[in-house]
Amino acid sequence: MRNVLISGAGIAGPTLAYWLARHGFRPTVVEPAPAARPGGSPVDVRGPALRVAERMGVLPQLRAAGTGVTSLRFVDAAGRQVGRVATGGRRGAGEVELPRGDLAALLSEAAREHAEFLFGDSISTLAQDADGVDVTFEHAPPRRFDLVIGADGLHSRVRRLAFGPERVHVRHLGMYVATVPLLSGPDDPADGVRMYNAPGRAAAVHPGRGRSLGFFAFRHPEVTDLHHRDLAGQRRLLGAAYAEDERTGAWRLPELLDRARTADEFYFDAVAQVRLDTWSHGRIGLLGDAASAVSLFGDGSSLALAGAHTLATALADHTEPTTALHHYETTHRRLVDPRQRNVLRAAALLVPRTSRGLRTRNLATHLLPSGG
Ligand SMILES: Cc1cc2nc3c(=O)[nH]c(=O)nc-3n(C[C@H](O)[C@H](O)[C@H](O)COP(=O)(O)OP(=O)(O)OC[C@H]3O[C@@H](n4cnc5c(N)ncnc54)[C@H](O)[C@@H]3O)c2cc1C
Repeated sequence: MRNVLISGAGIAGPTLAYWLARHGFRPTVVEPAPAARPGGSPVDVRGPALRVAERMGVLPQLRAAGTGVTSLRFVDAAGRQVGRVATGGRRGAGEVELPRGDLAALLSEAAREHAEFLFGDSISTLAQDADGVDVTFEHAPPRRFDLVIGADGLHSRVRRLAFGPERVHVRHLGMYVATVPLLSGPDDPADGVRMYNAPGRAAAVHPGRGRSLGFFAFRHPEVTDLHHRDLAGQRRLLGAAYAEDERTGAWRLPELLDRARTADEFYFDAVAQVRLDTWSHGRIGLLGDAASAVSLFGDGSSLALAGAHTLATALADHTEPTTALHHYETTHRRLVDPRQRNVLRAAALLVPRTSRGLRTRNLATHLLPSGG
């Protein structure tokens, strides 16, 4: 069992490729994007993921790309601060926040020396037998692998091909999220996120290195016919959710919505979790968000890094792939399951449903040591 195909060069894919190569495997990573692209939503590397990154030798680069954000300030429609929480409290423990794309690019760079990367391509079909998996690609010629791992995110193709349709495994949490890159305003504090709330919706400016990110999260029942690539439909839904804020000129909403309507780089998706009874079928396994997305309110990136390391170790320790995959799943579920359960609490804090909930949240921040 030496040739492993990994679908997805996000966080989990390159980390798995790196560690498999260290254990003497020959990993191949296939990724539809033409190249690793920096930027995107800020994510955290913390807990066991820090140790994984440190042992990969990439921690100094991750720190250099860190956003340096240490606080979250809640503001009202006029931009006045109404609450504040420290988010960098555990940075002392070595945690780092950096844009998701930068993290993926740095991990890919670390793995590239040891693994084959097929950018601009994707798996078309998978057919497994007792000894391996026959794979066809959209562009590359067909190949046979000993093992295939889907690390291809929330909308995983490997999961769809080998485990069934997305609607069976993806659980909508009654919320949508959107992000858009901004040109930093002169008054954007470099260390702090500023967030405006109205009942059931939030909008924020998240400073980054050079470029801030506009962020929206709003409660809305699942729109079943809205495809995750339907940009026009997504922009309409976003505009409708914030119509009142735009009409009244609340905080920076008119500017943020204008960017969301016109910027080329616009990200939109459902806030969702992935839940499956099993993360493997024979020689096909799932990793990261593809297996167990916790949603953006969880520790998805750190779990992706930690899970990749656990899977590589299990594959190195067990020659029988099904035993290795089972071992990885049992171990990693202990980290994932509690975080999946805690996500609704974080969502309630960031996007309270009612005016009363909002007032209570803001008042509570003044009781914290960092409030004020
Ligand atoms: C707006 C937002 C904010 C977030 N905030 C945080 C946060 O603060 N903290 C945190 O820890 N996490 C956060 N997350 C979650 C975090 O980004 C994910 O949990 C993490 O990226 C999961 O890593 P992954 O490698 O499993 O998947 P991804 O990083 O999603 O990577 C999947 C890869 O697969 C590729 N792919 C897609 N389709 C195919 C295909 N057909 N074939 C091959 N490859 C394919 C994609 O292009 C991508 O490169 C946030 C997510 C979002 C969207």
